[in-house]
Amino acid sequence: MKTQLLPPTGEALSRAAALLREGEVVGFPTETVYGLGANALDADAAEKIFQAKGRPGDNPLIVHISSEEELAPLIAGEPCEAARRLMAAYWPGPMTLIFPKSPRVPERVTAGLATVAIRMPAHPVARRLIELAKVPVAAPSANRSGRPSPTTAEDVFEDMNGRIPLILDGGACGVGLESTVIDLTGSAPRVLRPGGITQAQIEAVTQTCEVDPAVLHPLGEGERPRSPGMKYKHYAPRGEVTIFHGPGTVREICNRYDRSEDALILALEGNLSQYGDRRIISLGPDARAMAQNLFGALREADRMGAKVIFCEAVEPTGVGLAVMNRLLRAAAFRVVET
Ligand code: AMP
Ligand code: MG
Repeated sequence: MKTQLLPPTGEALSRAAALLREGEVVGFPTETVYGLGANALDADAAEKIFQAKGRPGDNPLIVHISSEEELAPLIAGEPCEAARRLMAAYWPGPMTLIFPKSPRVPERVTAGLATVAIRMPAHPVARRLIELAKVPVAAPSANRSGRPSPTTAEDVFEDMNGRIPLILDGGACGVGLESTVIDLTGSAPRVLRPGGITQAQIEAVTQTCEVDPAVLHPLGEGERPRSPGMKYKHYAPRGEVTIFHGPGTVREICNRYDRSEDALILALEGNLSQYGDRRIISLGPDARAMAQNLFGALREADRMGAKVIFCEAVEPTGVGLAVMNRLLRAAAFRVVET
């Protein structure tokens, strides 16, 4: 299959929407990361996403909508009070809500779960595409399973060339990490996956908000995650990533760097000068910038052929929680306290 990479002109958007309606899979930009979309009401179309990504069958997809009217047919019952407040505050935006599912949503999409994950993206290209397709769009991140999520159309092309017919190129993604996933089916809202909408932002409208322990800790043997995607090694470049935390971070990385070949450092902008002429990629000045730059930096590490990757930690608060959640998985939870 030949994969076209097109700017999101009216013509390209119409073609992408037609492909979705025909049961095909299309790559498209959102404000979080690039998505791999298919008609969420068509089980065979959804199956093509799993094939293209090499995604494990028990990892459910997020269903994307472009208006609130599209929500009711996808969920069982009415949205709860917390859901209504969260939607009013943060949709469209980088927030996914988990609801009890309606029978209309194929089991293939929810990986057999009784719940469905729904998001209304803010990116104008994503919104227009969903509007034109006139169907809800199931879409995980557009990477091959296990790889860092794509934040540019070129990243999608790198992973999906020959596997899908079309990628819409909307430039670089603003947030750079996947959406915040919030489970609303328990007694209190619970963050299953942190993202661009922070715990404080959620608490501002719901008062309470729990964070699932699996966000920052590996699952125990035989433990079943509430967010199935959490159990996989994820976001990983080919090189071995180690995270450094604490006041001796720069010193410790410098010590270890000298002993290895093909090493690379991922550091905050403010620390760059302390690493001398060692090979380094800047992650930007703060946690927000780090969120935006992390996946691109991990992919760049692969292109550079880095075998050993040393990365500075950030404090796991605000957007930093989402950064550490992804980084810990990219590093298979290898952390050096300094
Ligand atoms: P991706 O779009 O690739 O970031 O993957 C979507 C993620 O959303 C999955 O890894 C799941 O962990 C999570 N997710 C999707 N549907 C559900 C659901 N019904 N319940 C809990 N988590 C979900
Ligand atoms: Mg993903």
